[in-house]
Amino acid sequence: MSFTLHGLPVSQGIAIGRAMLMSHATLEVSHLTLTPRMVDKEIARFDAAIKAVKGELETMRVTTEHAPPELAAFIDIHTMFLEDPELVEKPRDIIRDRRCNAEWALVQQMEHLVSQFDEFDDPYLRERKFDVVQVVERVVKELLGRPGRALAKAHKGVTEELLIVVAHDLSPADVITFKENRFASFITDVGGGTSHTAILARSLAIPSVVGLGNARSLIRDGEQLIVDGTRGVVIVNPDPRVLEEYRLRKEQIELEKTKLKRLKTARSQTIDKVAVQLFANIELPGDVPGALEAGAEGIGLFRTEFLFLGRGDMPDEHEQYEAYKKVVKGMEGRPVTIRTFDLGNDKDIHSDEMCADRVKTNPALGRRAIRLSLAEPRMFQTQLRAILRASKYGPTKLLIPMLAHAHEIDQTLAALEQAKSSLRGEKVAFDENIEVGGMIEIPAAALAVGLFLRRLDFLSIGTNDLIQYTLAIDRSDEQVSSLYDPLHPAVLMLIAHTLASAEKVGIPVSVCGEMAGDPRLTRLLLGMGLRIFSMHPSQILEVKSHVLKSEIEVLAPTVRRMLRLDEPAKLQEALEKLNA
Ligand code: PEP
Ligand code: MG
Repeated sequence: MSFTLHGLPVSQGIAIGRAMLMSHATLEVSHLTLTPRMVDKEIARFDAAIKAVKGELETMRVTTEHAPPELAAFIDIHTMFLEDPELVEKPRDIIRDRRCNAEWALVQQMEHLVSQFDEFDDPYLRERKFDVVQVVERVVKELLGRPGRALAKAHKGVTEELLIVVAHDLSPADVITFKENRFASFITDVGGGTSHTAILARSLAIPSVVGLGNARSLIRDGEQLIVDGTRGVVIVNPDPRVLEEYRLRKEQIELEKTKLKRLKTARSQTIDKVAVQLFANIELPGDVPGALEAGAEGIGLFRTEFLFLGRGDMPDEHEQYEAYKKVVKGMEGRPVTIRTFDLGNDKDIHSDEMCADRVKTNPALGRRAIRLSLAEPRMFQTQLRAILRASKYGPTKLLIPMLAHAHEIDQTLAALEQAKSSLRGEKVAFDENIEVGGMIEIPAAALAVGLFLRRLDFLSIGTNDLIQYTLAIDRSDEQVSSLYDPLHPAVLMLIAHTLASAEKVGIPVSVCGEMAGDPRLTRLLLGMGLRIFSMHPSQILEVKSHVLKSEIEVLAPTVRRMLRLDEPAKLQEALEKLNA
């Protein structure tokens, strides 16, 4: 039976493929019966997974030495469970006696233990069942390997490009695995339009729809799907006519993309010869070829926290240095802006371990980004040293996320000086004059932008967070996503104020949030005075096509008038006219 689901369009385009349901929890494991000869091997596999997870916890204990006591306690409890015969010995017996695969044996034992914990009267003891589940999840993940690979293996015979991942939700770490395994699309029950997961979907340039409600329970594995990432529609088991229509539309979109490719070498300037710089946002060193392919003039935002995601440990200085060096060298003399970690909020080192730390409430307002870096001086020094060391390979800039206070900038600059001086002491080369910029993504920073202009070399407006904080809506919550409005007069006022204030003192400002890559907003931003845009490589050529057709002399006065409007309908109407 054919039916249609509606959600939020987060990444444009059309995908046609087969549904591949991704487990809500990793605990929905396959149930396999082993031959007697396989039993010993399976037990060895189970033992190896337990050992690996123990090692992971041990590394975490060392690398989070200064973390809050709750985190240490959490690691202790998990380690203790991993030494408990109930979790380590019993599953081995189950594998041997019932000839189950390791994942299934472990989950059976977990269910048994959880039912025992449920019987405790003491609420503290009852709650410990969640620790058991989390420990088991860790071991199951280890047994399954990286989720992307496990998924692809489960669908042998179908090439990954034709698979559409259907999930309840995906963490940014899950999506990282999609960079290694190309899927046609992914669709989720939850998620907002500028959640980091959605941003990643756009960076992968695969059509995606989120916030579908209950797609996972309505769609069955292997069913044919059409994902319309432009309209936010998913058609399940389409009839042949609809399928044909979408195939044609998909071909048209591909044709348009091919046409846009011709603009790659065109100079990015308006009709009246105003130069507009178009930079790329990247998450991993592997994104560099895509940025060059799209004709990016440099990297305007390297979200380094993605180096952490999906792993249980922290990359050391050497590993970070190698990653940054790869990007700087890969960009062949073009500038690279490296943002220090924006960890916390929805981007945890590992989805489980930071939970205890962030107490699960309002992570977006908590100790994230620069706040976390300043609270973890060792981690911060490691990163700053690695970035400085990479700076000798090409023009490199340092960007600091989530600044709000003057003292945060001062402390950051002092930390940078410390990193520089330690490298000088070791006679290690780096760029002494590395430029330092700040993200303007908290309304306070936009309003009191003078503090930033006096202390920093450049600014970058992070509109994703700026909108989230200005309008008090969680950017990853689909229930409030309709309130996420880049055109809200308050948002436009903050951007305009930042641009105008910086222009007065000659400090460069870019926009690196999703607004920069939205072609419907290119003219508006140009008219507001923006000359540096940083976006996903997949958006660059389309934005360029709009830049080439724009004339600043005409746009500037129109946009100035537009900014005086504070009625949303009028603003919308004016935007349509501007783009006509
Ligand atoms: C932003 O907030 O606009 C931004 C670019 O940073 P991130 O999306 O990584 O929070
Ligand atoms: Mg941000």
